[in-house]
Amino acid sequence: MTTIQYPESADLRSLLRFAPEDGHIWLSEHRMLLLHVGAMSELRKELIGSVGQQQARRILTRMGFASGMRDAELARKTRQARDPADAFVVGPQLHMLEGCARVEPVRLEFDMQGNTFYAEFLWHDAWEAEAHVQAFGEVDQPVCWMMIGYASGYTSAFMGRFILFKETQCAATGCENCRIVGKPAEEWPDADELRPYFEADSIVGRLLELREEIEAMRHTIACPRKTPDLIGSSSSFLHAYDLISRAASTSVSVLLLGETGVGKERFARTLHEMSARKDAPFVAVNCAALPDELIESELFGVERGAFTGAHASRAGKFERAHGGTLFLDEVGELPLPAQAKLLRVLQEGEIERLGDERTRKINVRLVAATNVDLQKAVSAGTFRRDLYYRLNVYPVTIPPLRERPGDIPALVDALVRRFETLHGKRIAGISDKAMHALKLHSWPGNVRELENVLERGAILAPQNGLIEIEHLFIGALPDDSQEHALSARGELEAAHRPPQDLVAAVLASGVSLEAFEQNLLNRAVDQANGNLAAAARLLGMTRPQLNYRIKKQAG
Ligand SMILES: [Zn+2]
Repeated sequence: MTTIQYPESADLRSLLRFAPEDGHIWLSEHRMLLLHVGAMSELRKELIGSVGQQQARRILTRMGFASGMRDAELARKTRQARDPADAFVVGPQLHMLEGCARVEPVRLEFDMQGNTFYAEFLWHDAWEAEAHVQAFGEVDQPVCWMMIGYASGYTSAFMGRFILFKETQCAATGCENCRIVGKPAEEWPDADELRPYFEADSIVGRLLELREEIEAMRHTIACPRKTPDLIGSSSSFLHAYDLISRAASTSVSVLLLGETGVGKERFARTLHEMSARKDAPFVAVNCAALPDELIESELFGVERGAFTGAHASRAGKFERAHGGTLFLDEVGELPLPAQAKLLRVLQEGEIERLGDERTRKINVRLVAATNVDLQKAVSAGTFRRDLYYRLNVYPVTIPPLRERPGDIPALVDALVRRFETLHGKRIAGISDKAMHALKLHSWPGNVRELENVLERGAILAPQNGLIEIEHLFIGALPDDSQEHALSARGELEAAHRPPQDLVAAVLASGVSLEAFEQNLLNRAVDQANGNLAAAARLLGMTRPQLNYRIKKQAG
C-alpha cells in the first residue's frame, strides 16, 4: 500500500449534524463542540504555565487519546464491511473533518489480526503547532501533543493494542509540516519515555486491562443478581440514605414510601446490612403477591390441623426472620384481619401460629413499604388507623428517579458494568446522545425501568462498542414520556436518523412511492391540525407546492 487514496468522505460528513435549536452538535451519537482555536491556544498556554510542560503535555495527550478512541468507534460503524485500509482512514479523514490538519498519507501497512502495524502521515497546517507558535514562538521540540494523542488513541482502539504515534518532525520547530509515525509501543526504542504521557489514570490502562478486570469481577460476583449498593449523590437521595443509616443502629420500625421501582427493597436490605442484625435473616414478603386466604399462614405460620389441608406445622415469615429484618412490601394491600394480627405482633412482640394456643416471642425489625397513600386508605376504611400510626413512626420517602436526574450517569455507569459482567461482554460505555435521552426520559418505572432499559442496551450493543440510542428505546418510546421533553427529543432523533435507514425501511415495506407520498402529506396536515402553511413548513416546502401535490394526489 504505497499510494493511499482516501475514499469519498460523504459517509463521514453525514454523521455530522447541527441542531442549533437545541444547542447541540452531533458526530454520530457523540456530542461535539465548536471551539475557537484561539481559546484552545489560551487553554494550552494556561496549562503549561500552571502545571508545567510535562503535565500539560500529559493532559493534552490523554485528551486527544480519548477523542481518538471515540472516533475509532465510527470506523466500525461506517466502514466495517469495507477494505481494512478504507476503514482505517476514517481516523485521518475525521481528523480533517474536525478541522485539526490536512492529513496526507505516506505509508500504511497493517494486518487486521493486529500482528503488524506501521503508519506514516504528514500533517499540513496542524492547529496545535500553529497555536503553540502563536503563544510561544518557534520551539525546538514537537508540540502537537493532543493530535498525537488522537492518532494513538484512534489507532490503539482500532487495532485493539497500544499503537504509539510520535512526531518525527513538527511545524512548530520551523519545518514545513509535521510528520508522524505510528508503531506498536514496544517497537519504539524510547517507548518507556513516551508511555507516561499516555498512561496515568485510566485511558490506556482501561483499554488494555478491561478484559482482566471483567474476569476478576466475574469471580467476585457470587450471585449474578446481587444487589449493588445504593447509588446516588443528589440531596433528596442522600437525605433518604441518611435517615436509613440513622435508623440502622436502633430497632425502630421503618416505613419506606415511594413510587414503584424506586428501590424500596434495596433500601430495606441496606438498612439490614448496616444494622447489628446483619448476620441474621432478611426476609422479604410482597403482600400484594399473596392471596388473602394464605397471607396469615404465610406471615404468622400454621399448626398442623389448623384448617383442612394444613398437614404439617410450618413457621411463618416472622419466625423465619427472628433476630433479623422482615420486609413487608406493599403493606397497603394487607387484608383487614391480617392487619389486626400484624398490629398485635408489633405491640406484643409475640406471634401466634394459626390453630395454635401457644404464643412465641419474636425479635424482628419490621420494614414496611408502600406506594399507595396510606392516609387515604385509612380515610377509605381499608387500612387500620392504629396500624398506620404504629408503622408511620419512622417514615422515609425515597425520591423518584425523575427528581434526581443528576444521579443517572452514576447509575448508568454502575449498571453498565454490572451487565457487562453478567453477559460476559465488553462495553465501551454509552453514547452522549443515548445519555442525553436517558436524562430527558421521565422514568415512570424509576430505577427498575432504567435497569431494564440498560440491560437491553447492553445486550444489543456491539462487542467493545457503545450503547446507542437505538439499543435503548426500541420502536416506540414509553407512552407517558412523550408529553414531556420527548416531543423535542423525538424531533431531534428523527432529524438524526440516517436517511438511508428510512429509505431502507420504505423499500422493505414494499409501499409504492405514490402511497408513501400521500401518507406523508396526510400525516403532515394532521400533525399541523389542518393548517396547510404549517404542514408545508413541516415538509420543507412552500404552501403552493403543497397545494399542488395535494391536488395531484386527489386528481
Ligand atoms: Zn506538530
